[in-house]
Parts: sequence; structure tokens; C-alpha cells
Amino acid sequence: MSLLEMKALELAYRQRGTTEKVVGPVDLEIQTGEFLGIIGESGAGKSTLGYEMLDLLRFKNGVLLAGETIRRIPVAEMSYIPQDPLAALDPLFSIGSQMRELTSNRAAIEEALKRVHLPLEKISLKSYPHELSGGMRQRLVIAMALLRRPQLIVADEPTSSLDVTLQADVMNLFWEIHGQGVTFVFITHDLALAAGRATRLAVMQHGRILELGSPAEVLRNPKTDYTRMLINSVPVMKR
Ligand code: ADP
Repeated sequence: MSLLEMKALELAYRQRGTTEKVVGPVDLEIQTGEFLGIIGESGAGKSTLGYEMLDLLRFKNGVLLAGETIRRIPVAEMSYIPQDPLAALDPLFSIGSQMRELTSNRAAIEEALKRVHLPLEKISLKSYPHELSGGMRQRLVIAMALLRRPQLIVADEPTSSLDVTLQADVMNLFWEIHGQGVTFVFITHDLALAAGRATRLAVMQHGRILELGSPAEVLRNPKTDYTRMLINSVPVMKR
């Protein structure tokens, strides 16, 4: 089933009377069960495309210049996981009260925390965001995203603020949640993070999708110099 379909989409930002196109034209369809890695350097338009998936563009001064999203599951069935968990959490409220704002169902809160391996024996709902480690905060944000029981999660550079071991933990958690039937759009500048197990990769540059295919197709047969450069810049471990 197709969760999302974009046709000839062109997106822009309006600033001081000017309109600058930053994405498009882009055609993209996302099917249930995918783990789509969107890869590209900073400024490529990845987040902007993610905002359009979540129908958030208008809250960011963004505009649709041309084309359209011809299919989108209800936004209530999608969740967003941002890069910086501290920005996503309110420092003034306990994590329990922030979770209760999303649901009054205590069992659902406990279940979401268990799914991110933060059972109540490990974390107190009375604690405040600053009392948690960076890795725990990111898990908490993921638990909050799961409270909506989303069909689709758009995760935008969700591991960029973490060190490499925590990055691996969070990636494993995503694969696990994906294995439970949640479709993922995973936005990253780091090809190596997504390439391993993503079901599809989209390589973006200057607002366009240059390549779209399975990791094997994209890695073995890059169509552009830019993709070749990305592949060549992945560090290889020498023993
Ligand atoms: P990426 O996620 O690939 O780093 P973005 O989608 O964040 O790329 O940004 C694409 C372009 O849009 C960049 O040039 C960025 O500066 C610009 N941009 C992003 N957000 C805004 C905004 N709210 N207003 C104006 N320009 C923006």
C-alpha cells in the first residue's frame, strides 16, 4: 500500500518578499514496510521534503510552488523524530507530564517506554529532560513518537547529536521498530548509517533526487559523480 505519493513536487521558502526554490521537481512514492534512507549533504533539501511529508511546510514559511502530494495517510498516523532531543522536550516539565500530554493511557506510556528499552525500572517519569543522558533523551523522544502508534516515522538526522556507540544503539532500535511493522523515512547526511539495511536509498543534491533504488543498486551502479563521491567518502576499516 502506498502511504505517500508526491508528483512533480517543487517546494520553496518565502523570505523578505522573495521565493527561493529548494526542492524539486521530485517524484516519490513510499510504500508500507519500507525503510527509505534519504541521503545528501546539508542544504540538499532533505528536511524540507520531510516537512512536506508531514504536511508541516506551511508552519515553516514554506510554500508549494508546483506539483502536489497526491496521496498522504492522515498526519495523525505519522510521527516525526528530530535531530535534537533537547529541542523536542520542554525543559520545564517532567517527562511524565510531557508523555501524559500525548496520552492519558498509562499502559500505553509504559509500553512505549518498553519498546525503546527504557522500562520504568530504568527511568522515573518524575525526572526532567536535563537529568537524562543524551541517549536516554533520544530514546524518550522515540517513545513519544511511538505513542501515536504511527504507520510512518520521519526521522530527521536523529542520531547526529549522539556519539558513535549511542548512534549504533539508536539505529538498532529503529531497525527493531521497523521490524515491528513501522515504515521509516530516515534522513541523514551519513550514507554509511542508512545504506546497510535500508530497503531503498534516495540520494539528494540541490533539491533533486539523483538516485532512487535499493542500496545494492545505488552502491554498485551510481549514476552520478556526486553519488560516487559519497560512496568513496565512506571510511573503510583497515585491520
Ligand atoms: P537539508 O535537510 O538537506 O540540510 P534543508 O531542507 O534543511 O536541507 O534546507 C534546504 C535549503 O532551504 C537550504 O538552503 C536552507 O538554508 C533553506 N531553508 C531551510 N529552512 C528554511 C526556512 N525556514 N526559511 C528559508 N530557507 C530555509
